[in-house]
Amino acid sequence: MEIEQELQRRLIKTVAERVILHTDELVALDQAIGDGDHGLNMKRGFEAVLADLDKFSAMPLGESLKGVGMTLVMKVGGASGPLYGSLFMALGKSWPAQAHRAGLAQAFAAAVDAVKARGKSDVGQKTMIDVLVPVLWILQDTAGDLPARLCSVAQEAATATIPVRAQRGRASFLGERSIGHMDPGARSAALMVCAVVDVMEGRA
Ligand code: ADP
Ligand code: MG
Repeated sequence: MEIEQELQRRLIKTVAERVILHTDELVALDQAIGDGDHGLNMKRGFEAVLADLDKFSAMPLGESLKGVGMTLVMKVGGASGPLYGSLFMALGKSWPAQAHRAGLAQAFAAAVDAVKARGKSDVGQKTMIDVLVPVLWILQDTAGDLPARLCSVAQEAATATIPVRAQRGRASFLGERSIGHMDPGARSAALMVCAVVDVMEGRA
């Protein structure tokens, strides 16, 4: 039990610190095709998560994910705050009582659906969804442990947003000029996925 709580603490802490570490990169990406605040929005949100790390580590994981989601909604702001908030809240709501692969995939599917519903968006529009959906496919399709492939797929999916013309969010206002830049939300989603994988594989 104590080990599980320790793992939960490390997961939340590593995801939060990873996003904060990449603040400047996310700002630069959002400066290219948005208003430049994505890194600072995410930093503010995850600093608030870290401030409540003891609380979030002690709760059952489902409750903890809901709590993280609510914090992100309140603190991140912008378009990404409600979207990431929806992701974490739906993930927490659907989290299986007994952690197992199929339950995890189902919970993540519900979480991705919540983001799609909130953003009125789908895959191929140059948003965080372009990373979340391929990650879901891996969770649904692969048997066995959480694979390292999850991180590389997420990173490749973020890179694959570069040639896409944005159809949602501020970047869509740029039309053709949004082409040639990585979507900041896709990048932050990939950062989070890779942080989770690092913890699961004992690297963080
Ligand atoms: P804002 O665009 O309000 O400044 P942020 O800069 O924090 O908010 O977040 C921008 C990111 O949010 C985008 O890079 C994109 O990934 C994501 N995003 C914006 N609108 C949507 C949407 N409708 N559906 C899914 N993701 C979206
Ligand atoms: Mg922005």
